[in-house]
Amino acid sequence: MNQYRELDELICGEIWTSMDLEENHRRLCLEYPGRFSGSPEGFGAAEYIVDTLTSYGVNPLQKETYETIFWKRGTAECRILSPVNRELPCLALPYSPACNREFSLVDLGMGHPVDLERMCHLIKGNAILVDDNNPPAGPHLHRLQKYVPLVKSEAGAFLFVNKSPGMLAPTGSLAFNQSREMDQALPAVGLPFETGAELRYWLNRNGSLNLKLVMNNSLFRGQESNIIADISGPDPNGSMVLITAHYDGHDISHASVDNASGTAVVMEIARVLFKHRHQLKGTVRCILFAGEEMGLLGSHHHVKKQVKTLDSIRFQFNLDCVGHDSRLALMIHNASQVKTWLETQAKQLPAPIDIQEYLVPFSDHFPFYLQGVPGAFCVTPGRDGRGWGHTYADSFEKTSMEALHKVAAYIARLVIRVDHEKDWRCQRQTLQAIRKEIEPYNVEELLQFEGHWPFSP
Ligand SMILES: [Zn+2]
Repeated sequence: MNQYRELDELICGEIWTSMDLEENHRRLCLEYPGRFSGSPEGFGAAEYIVDTLTSYGVNPLQKETYETIFWKRGTAECRILSPVNRELPCLALPYSPACNREFSLVDLGMGHPVDLERMCHLIKGNAILVDDNNPPAGPHLHRLQKYVPLVKSEAGAFLFVNKSPGMLAPTGSLAFNQSREMDQALPAVGLPFETGAELRYWLNRNGSLNLKLVMNNSLFRGQESNIIADISGPDPNGSMVLITAHYDGHDISHASVDNASGTAVVMEIARVLFKHRHQLKGTVRCILFAGEEMGLLGSHHHVKKQVKTLDSIRFQFNLDCVGHDSRLALMIHNASQVKTWLETQAKQLPAPIDIQEYLVPFSDHFPFYLQGVPGAFCVTPGRDGRGWGHTYADSFEKTSMEALHKVAAYIARLVIRVDHEKDWRCQRQTLQAIRKEIEPYNVEELLQFEGHWPFSP
């Protein structure tokens, strides 16, 4: 028997018969394309979210503001000088400094530690070509885990090659420590898959290749804000369920799947749960984070400011890229105790949700994870995982409205169940437990570099 039947009907009815979700997704994409940190679209989107939630009556609403270093894209040119003279399509990677220099090219393949060891005498001062690809047997290294060892080895430049064909240069920010000097990053560009292949052809044929990078990017200081909406029942019991998503995206596209999709779904859940707030036992905190694409800036800031409330969080649902027409996956962390419970709830919705214990250290749940907070990275996986995200092609029409409605209805109903559960078995983990668990993930070097390593040495 489904004890939530009545509430489920209200929630599903609201979500499936309203146009708000579609309207919010489309407007975020087309009126505030990219919503890049520090851009007019980024600030405009924050205002739009606040105004829209206000129009739904959602309160209290607060803006959580923090200081940061913004990056502004200039022009970028990548040209082979020899053995041929040819301009290549490229994109500056966020935080890349301005540059006007010639380099020799070194091919580091997938850029794993074994590649670096083999080629270590060739790194210093040169432009290093690295694929966004990993061996099937792993380890699965992220762009930043390949980039930081190259900074430490004093590489001259970082050339990051898309793993999927389609003449799409990838973007993605570089590791950056907000409390160090401004100019600390390597000149870096993203290159299409096909361009990587052409560079390798000339390099292998000639034995060497010279290229020139010319970029005019700049950095400036400013402030940006997370947006927090607390929705409480008449007699809140002190527990909190978090639903979070980042509203910022990359400046080169609509940033539709990544992450207007998650933003619009969190706004929709806030709208619907606010209408039925008298049925809540505790508080549902909806947070739209800024600065995720620039290094999880908003969520790191929030966790630092909210240390005192972390114990009261039952569970965090972090929605990042939920617009693909595929099965919803919940990748849970710090939450072994509730895996079976979540599977049972999913069956009763009923909803085909994949639930697996798997830590993804690259979205806004990660700063919470590091503090032991239980939660799930919620995603509908796309082509090669990321789908069109981080390329020009992440445009509004790629997001499936059906997927957004489904995810909103599933997550809203799971949130109700976590909120109502009398015998909630999941607790915040200790820092020692996290430190031990995180060892195999190869993230210490990156977190130390960015100043986000939460453990004493
Ligand atoms: Zn994202």
